Amino acid sequence: MVKYDKKTLERMIDGDLTWEELKPIISGTKDPDRFDKIIEILQEKVSWDEKIILPIHEHLHIVSKDGKRIVKCDCGYEFGDYKENWKKKCRIRVRDTAEELEEFYPKYMSSDPDWMELREYFCPGCFTLLDTEAVPPGYPTIFNFLPDIDAFYKEWLGRKAPDR
Ligand SMILES: [Zn+2]
Repeated sequence: MVKYDKKTLERMIDGDLTWEELKPIISGTKDPDRFDKIIEILQEKVSWDEKIILPIHEHLHIVSKDGKRIVKCDCGYEFGDYKENWKKKCRIRVRDTAEELEEFYPKYMSSDPDWMELREYFCPGCFTLLDTEAVPPGYPTIFNFLPDIDAFYKEWLGRKAPDR
């Protein structure tokens, strides 16, 4: 098993590795402390002190704050309880006209706005585009990922989550 140094993993997170460098890292067996190294790198990148328990999305992390598990953006914006959909706190832009959809799709190649809208979710703190959804109009906001944090720590890392 190859162990990757922190610098390489940091470049991976920043998207600076070439495909030749990246492929063996993501397809190979993970070194046992990979998760801890990744958390360490992510923690160094943010300016706040709350402990990162689990990264859940690009720019978003579940952190421990005052005994609660909340979703927090790189910029520091707090979305609240991780069991609630962070998208509901976002600034949302809905593209539901042919003109707006054509900014992304070539003319006559986009979908019918009566059948599909494009929703863009921005962080209210830093206005980073966090996610997009292409869904039928009126479709409920998609909840991407609700992790079982305690099971993940226990089963995969063999220890308790840092806030328990
Ligand atoms: Zn933000």
